[in-house]
Amino acid sequence: MKRKLVIIVFLCLVVVVQVLAQKNCGTKDFVESTFEEMSDQKGIIEKGNSALALKLKLALLPPVINIPVWVHVLYHPDSAAQKISEQLIQEQIDELNRDFNKQNADIGQVPLPFRKLEADCGIHFKLAHAPDYVKTQKRVFMLKPNDGSDTYNRSEESIKFKDCGGADGVADTRYLNIWIGNITDGKPLQLLGYGTYPGHQDAFDGVVIYYKAIGPNADKSAWNRGRTLTHEVGHWLNLRHLWGDSECGDDGIFDTPRQAGPNQGSPKFSHFTCPGQAYGDLFMDYMDQVDDSAMLMFTDGQRDWMRSNFIESGGRSSFLLQSAFNLASALAGRNDQHTPVVTNLHDAQSSAQGDFAGKKITWTAVKAATQYKVLINLLGSSRQKESISKTATVKLNHLKPGSLYQISIQTVTVDGKLSSPSTPYLFQATKQ
Ligand SMILES: [Zn+2]
Repeated sequence: MKRKLVIIVFLCLVVVVQVLAQKNCGTKDFVESTFEEMSDQKGIIEKGNSALALKLKLALLPPVINIPVWVHVLYHPDSAAQKISEQLIQEQIDELNRDFNKQNADIGQVPLPFRKLEADCGIHFKLAHAPDYVKTQKRVFMLKPNDGSDTYNRSEESIKFKDCGGADGVADTRYLNIWIGNITDGKPLQLLGYGTYPGHQDAFDGVVIYYKAIGPNADKSAWNRGRTLTHEVGHWLNLRHLWGDSECGDDGIFDTPRQAGPNQGSPKFSHFTCPGQAYGDLFMDYMDQVDDSAMLMFTDGQRDWMRSNFIESGGRSSFLLQSAFNLASALAGRNDQHTPVVTNLHDAQSSAQGDFAGKKITWTAVKAATQYKVLINLLGSSRQKESISKTATVKLNHLKPGSLYQISIQTVTVDGKLSSPSTPYLFQATKQ
């Protein structure tokens, strides 16, 4: 009898230790269940952007992209711990910003061979409003949880809907919604969080985090530094897990080595799980599942992949196209009143000799214009050609076939003043 008791106690301890030492991110299951609905989730690169064209578009993004955040805290009246303080939420957002902008104090722990990959992603998060505290009588509102507990079940997504005992997200594509609560996926391992990829339905869009994983906090658990949120926001910006959610799979990022599956705990460099990798797993990346204290960086490839969401037609482009915050900073101090907008670019007629003839570009006529200044850059070089046009159209000659160009137009007004340049227009010169 005594022996049996010892075994039972031991088994309980094993379960507890496992729960504390392992991480459970629900985004993979989420992808599998919703993959077919989400045509956008593979990223902008597969939508006809060549690698070079994408690079150029990325170069034109603001150095810092601002994401306004709306936080919903769902707490049960019996649980003081679930009512995460505003101060802790702010500390969590600060941690998120440090991680995304390579300002985390532990970045120095990255092993030498991986240091050249460390990225400052230039993405900044800011609480748009005071956190929204939703006192919830979960027992009353709960649907039918499959584990019988007093929690928000991920498969029901009840945390995201008021009618199900949660809180409706802010239905505005200019905000990142973050829900914090007592979540579960019915498995023994505590679910720490999950996020939606770009392209998901607006009402579900955002990130959900287990309330104890909000940090940094004094907890001794593997998730005490607030990096669950860093990881889940990575998903929200279209990053996959490093192992591509399959054995030695591909996450689509050029500079992250393949690895067999999720790493747990705090691995020691070098740690090899797939053949053919020079330095082994990049287990210190935020998109692995190691302890918070062991995850330290995003890579350049992940940065570009995340930022590609913000270019025109990208999954998160609404943040740049619609955000008053970004718009205000972009427009600050500019003389935009007379800035033209490029409306059309098309192939000019072929010359009689059949030589390369160039393109014709048209822009909106500005009343106050006496003439326009046309600025043409050959991308990849510092060469800039300027020409003057009296009309709102110009034929571009002597372009190098196959090369990429950026063009922008400025209005010269009666008093000789120049407007701000139009939004740069990118195109490739083709042979006629
Ligand atoms: Zn994940």
